[in-house]
Amino acid sequence: MTGHDRLYIGGEWVAPAGTGTLTVVSPSTEEVLGAVPEGTEADVDRAVDAARTAFDDPQGWSTWTPQARAEVLERFAVALDASAAATAQAVSSQNGMPIRIAQALESVFPALLLRYYGTLVANRGTEERRDAMFGGTTIVRREPVGVVAAIVPWNFPQALAFVKIAPALAAGCTVVVKPAPETVLDSWVMAEAAQAAGLPPGVLSIVPAGREVGAHLVAHPGVDKVAFTGSSAAGRAIAETCGRLLRPVTLELGGKSAAIVLDDADLTAHSEALFGATLLNNGQTCFLGTRVLAPRSRYAEIVEQVSALASGLVIGDALDPATQIGPLVSARQRDRVETYIAKGLADGARVTAGGGRPADRDRGFFVSPTVFADVDNNHTIAQEEIFGPVLAVIPYTDTDDAVRIANDSDYGLGGSVWSSDPERATAVARRVRTGSIGINSYVNDPVSPFGGVKASGLGREMGPEGLAGYEVLTSIYAAP
Ligand code: NAD
Repeated sequence: MTGHDRLYIGGEWVAPAGTGTLTVVSPSTEEVLGAVPEGTEADVDRAVDAARTAFDDPQGWSTWTPQARAEVLERFAVALDASAAATAQAVSSQNGMPIRIAQALESVFPALLLRYYGTLVANRGTEERRDAMFGGTTIVRREPVGVVAAIVPWNFPQALAFVKIAPALAAGCTVVVKPAPETVLDSWVMAEAAQAAGLPPGVLSIVPAGREVGAHLVAHPGVDKVAFTGSSAAGRAIAETCGRLLRPVTLELGGKSAAIVLDDADLTAHSEALFGATLLNNGQTCFLGTRVLAPRSRYAEIVEQVSALASGLVIGDALDPATQIGPLVSARQRDRVETYIAKGLADGARVTAGGGRPADRDRGFFVSPTVFADVDNNHTIAQEEIFGPVLAVIPYTDTDDAVRIANDSDYGLGGSVWSSDPERATAVARRVRTGSIGINSYVNDPVSPFGGVKASGLGREMGPEGLAGYEVLTSIYAAP
């Protein structure tokens, strides 16, 4: 069992202000994995004060050259590389992510993003001169936005923290991270790497806590910008606070994306990619195409192919390298997913794979990958985000109908189009109202913007656009 008794705040390991603890349970075995101090409002106050002091220091981080910051980010990346195995192990054991996925994504994205944003700022000036229309010159300056509150969910706790931390630090901001209570142990790996890299005091602090303390951080007078990933419900609450305070906010929220299978698609040739685009991380991934749209002309065949894919996946302990589907993060999440399965059946949809808990697992929060056929896009299981391994196969008549159904959603985050003709698939992809969409696969591209439309969020992360979210622009008009 992993135990910690201090919090990483202001560049030091400090005693927590409160006496509460957060206990992490393995969703694979239901055993206790570890316990850490639960951050309180007083800890948030201390972390924001440290971030404020570091940001406002006239010789501090925000005033360093981008090259000097990039050097520290490189050291941070090196330290994270050295602890990559520990990161994957911590994430996988806490949230049920199959270890191979944790090794490929959670261990890799943090260092990759630090290097990407470090290089981006180091190779770019902070000022641009423009000939002013009415004579003279304008200097357009990029400045860091200030102290950033980064609020992170449990499903990809490292990647989703670093899509905020990396551009924020590169821009010259200071950051207070609030991890989700379900995944706190990996944040110690992050903190130790930050310390090993020699991040100046206050540039990064971590306060593990629940939503009330998160709400305190969002509304804190010392914070200049909020970056949030999580549910649309929490995003709305955070947006209301930020609206009242006129505080910039980036929101990466839920999704219910469409995987559009065109009538010429060969799904068997893309089964691994289809898994990644529809069931990655036990269905606990925001961009998944959990509505599979299939042409009526090939409906039965596609239902069979998707069902065979789901039924053939290896279910097991998240730490077993053979596992493709691990448990859901908590008993609560499993119960929620089961409620949706019951709702699908009550609405008249037909289970063609899974449909409940795997028979051979007497411990852990497992749900078998489940496929529903005969789903209408108005059904609850087609409209609401389930956040588990549950797919709904919905028939369509022609391409216009497929696009209509894909766009008939409160959400617009990810999605994919499957076809033996990539040009044709791309033409369909252009018509889908979403933040990102894949052709015959779905793989996040760190150099391209990622984010949602409609209830899936506001703003973009990743790519140069993700950096812009941590900068403010100032124009200095020089008279002719
Ligand atoms: P959640 O919204 O309950 O919690 C996310 C984080 O926000 C946690 O750290 C939580 O403690 C904190 N939080 C919750 N309410 C808050 C509030 N009012 N003020 C401040 N902090 C608050 O979400 P979850 O259940 O942990 O995560 C799953 C959700 O995240 C899903 O809906 C999923 O689609 C979404 N998600 C979105 C993306 C994306 O990039 N769009 C990525 C991953 C997950």
